[in-house]
Amino acid sequence: MDIITDIADMQSRSLAARESGKRIAFVPTMGFLHEGHASLLREGRKRGDILVLSIFVNPTQFGPNEDLDRYPRDFARDEAIASAAGVDWIFYPTADTVYPPGYSTYVDVEGGLATVLEGACRPGHFRGVATVVAKLFLSVQPHVAFFGQKDFQQLAVIRRMTQDLNLPVEIVGMPIVREADGLAMSSRNVYLAPDERRQALAIIGALRLAGQAAREGECSPRKLLLLAEGCLHREPDLQIEYVTIRHQATLQETATIDADAVMLIAVRIGKTRLIDNAMLLAKA
Ligand code: AMP
Repeated sequence: MDIITDIADMQSRSLAARESGKRIAFVPTMGFLHEGHASLLREGRKRGDILVLSIFVNPTQFGPNEDLDRYPRDFARDEAIASAAGVDWIFYPTADTVYPPGYSTYVDVEGGLATVLEGACRPGHFRGVATVVAKLFLSVQPHVAFFGQKDFQQLAVIRRMTQDLNLPVEIVGMPIVREADGLAMSSRNVYLAPDERRQALAIIGALRLAGQAAREGECSPRKLLLLAEGCLHREPDLQIEYVTIRHQATLQETATIDADAVMLIAVRIGKTRLIDNAMLLAKA
């Protein structure tokens, strides 16, 4: 497994691999890997000849009061997980390499997809995400790239950007990997104190409660939201940023519940912000 820190080196290796007919599979991450990332890597391993993992805590997607400085990092552990998953190359650039002095070019996905929900709570977030993913694609030159549905809106924004910029990359969305008790895996879960970790289970509780009611025939978004909010309100330290039901492709609000309806939740527990989602009519 090679570790590549230089963008020109990354590009020339990828271009040489492509010229020799190799298919490049790519999993972009911010590191501190867990089983969710590993599931993307395993799928990438199956679908590419060369598997590239990037580890880059992207400063442009963090707001001024967010957790950039304390974002968890453990490169040695990430290397071990990557090696076990069969990664060929880790692309591990520094922030100065990606954004050298004078850097001025950004990718803005406009319209409803990127301005609602996470875009509204975290101004500039998707500009940073779209910019770094475009730059990572240009560095790694993948044929196929894997993203988790855990970051549901991010996946929609990246699909939109890839299509709009005619980037020749197949985007694959992968299911959410959860802890045994249902909490969606996230690098940020390490921030949670034990009691916060327990309170965080209200998120999956709310998604399951609403999903069950929807599958039993409740088709009023308002009633499903009340059920979910009731579940979240039972935890004293949990603050709701949003609980909403949207159409999965447009992320606009839905008037009724159908196979496209997704419930999305963002909460704060203490200093930690968590997001999760579920397709309401999907099998539990
Ligand atoms: P991150 O390192 O948090 O930026 O995530 C890197 C990629 O892993 C993104 O495509 C995420 O959506 C994906 N991911 C993170 N957590 C999970 C999870 N629990 N299940 C599936 N994919 C995940």
